[in-house]
Amino acid sequence: MLSADERCRVTVVESGPGPADPRIGKLISDALSLPIGPASPVVRRYPVTLTDEPKRHMEIMRGAVLGGSGAVNGGYFCRALPTDFERWALPGWGWDDVLPHYRAIENDLDFGGPLHGADGPIAVHRVSEFDGCTASFVLAAEAAGFGWIGDLNGAAPQSPLPPGVGAVPLNIDIGIRVGPGRAFLQPVLARPNLTVLTDTRVDRIRLEGNRAVGVDCRGADGVLSLAADRVAVCAGAIASAQLLMLSGLGPPAVLAVAGVPVRAALPVGVDTADHPEWVLPINWTPTHGVPALEAILTTADGLEIRPYTAGFGAMTTGRRDDPADRPHLGVTLMRPHSRGRITLVSADPGVAPVIEYRYDTEPADVEQLRSGTELAREIAGAAVQFAPSWATSQHLCGSARMGRDDDPAAVLDTRCRVLGVDGLWVVDGAILPGIPSRGPHATIVMAAHRAAEFIAAS
Ligand SMILES: Cc1cc2nc3c(=O)[nH]c(=O)nc-3n(C[C@H](O)[C@H](O)[C@H](O)COP(=O)(O)OP(=O)(O)OC[C@H]3O[C@@H](n4cnc5c(N)ncnc54)[C@H](O)[C@@H]3O)c2cc1C
Repeated sequence: MLSADERCRVTVVESGPGPADPRIGKLISDALSLPIGPASPVVRRYPVTLTDEPKRHMEIMRGAVLGGSGAVNGGYFCRALPTDFERWALPGWGWDDVLPHYRAIENDLDFGGPLHGADGPIAVHRVSEFDGCTASFVLAAEAAGFGWIGDLNGAAPQSPLPPGVGAVPLNIDIGIRVGPGRAFLQPVLARPNLTVLTDTRVDRIRLEGNRAVGVDCRGADGVLSLAADRVAVCAGAIASAQLLMLSGLGPPAVLAVAGVPVRAALPVGVDTADHPEWVLPINWTPTHGVPALEAILTTADGLEIRPYTAGFGAMTTGRRDDPADRPHLGVTLMRPHSRGRITLVSADPGVAPVIEYRYDTEPADVEQLRSGTELAREIAGAAVQFAPSWATSQHLCGSARMGRDDDPAAVLDTRCRVLGVDGLWVVDGAILPGIPSRGPHATIVMAAHRAAEFIAAS
């Protein structure tokens, strides 16, 4: 969007590859598989701990390709609820402020009217006929008394959605994943005022006094310094937090241990949030060649129950010969109380930060996961034959959050500007002041659309 103004020269620096390589292009466009398997060239992996007692370890991924995680994800493209924005209570981010941006990014192929967009570049579509595991789940949920929700993007402040089961709005158009890279960047790559540097990692934001003046990068040809009068950090909740801290913008005690001189004391990486998930393998028929998740059940107390269409192995590698690789139900807390942290441990940009989810630090969350699992068992009956295991939805948010002037947890003001530093914005999942009650992707794209206007106007 920023390069639409011919007077601006925009450089996008991306650490991963671009879609010009046909193998990469194919991996990120096929929405019916997740290109996140062990040999994937389009993700970066991070070790994390999910819980503290005992320590449960896991590896999470982030898209590392032009288009980011939106180029590798499951295609669930569901808006946050109006009550999320009420709870965040950020000036300029009320429902009436964000709805035009949700509408502007999408072309909803199923619903029209004042809530839905028809002209945006991201096609949104819902599956109308279910098969296998999804069909079994929808029938079982309805038999358990849950009503059908026609449009999960149909909430408005005056007409909230009831609990129930419904088809997931998907940013998938005839099997093609339409993420933000494909929708917004790829069509304008020929603009003469736009340069895209792929396979180039930003290592530090260069600061002069209290102003950002460019970035230091490392690419195939070695080290590169770029000058800029405006710098927008869009590296995602993990890497944006790391990059701010590598540049001296973070909690002084953390920076001191990592050996980075402090430029501004800011609560970066503190109080991150994600959706904790318990996974229950289930004895239903897998469905192949369809999106990973086609329908969900939402409850009044903020649970989402997800019937994934196949085993993770089949979804990521396409192999279907492992009898232990079953479809599964995900029982997910969409409004968790637990908060995690991302801690810089080295001044070397190649060393990943430590990521601790701390999902077990709020007993009420653990109890709700337990009762949600019971509900899933009641719905699915004998089909659930296995104990649940801890997981995460990979929706990490809030590592450099926006906040009001009096919010001590804020890293950014409500126009996404880094506090105390001129010419520097953060625009990605890091900025959200909490975790939305739905998967965050649609909300992050909406927020980026809104933030591009802030940057253009500055
Ligand atoms: C496997 C998976 C499945 C998911 N499924 C869903 C889903 O179905 N629905 C949903 O709502 N959410 C889903 N999510 C979450 C969602 O995709 C992300 O929350 C969202 O895309 C994050 O967007 P972002 O802009 O914050 O960061 P990202 O999309 O992660 O973008 C960050 C970009 O910055 C680049 N980068 C990072 N560090 C540097 C650096 N130092 N220099 C240069 N470039 C850098 C990365 O390569 C990447 O391209 C999923 C996530 C994963 C990993």
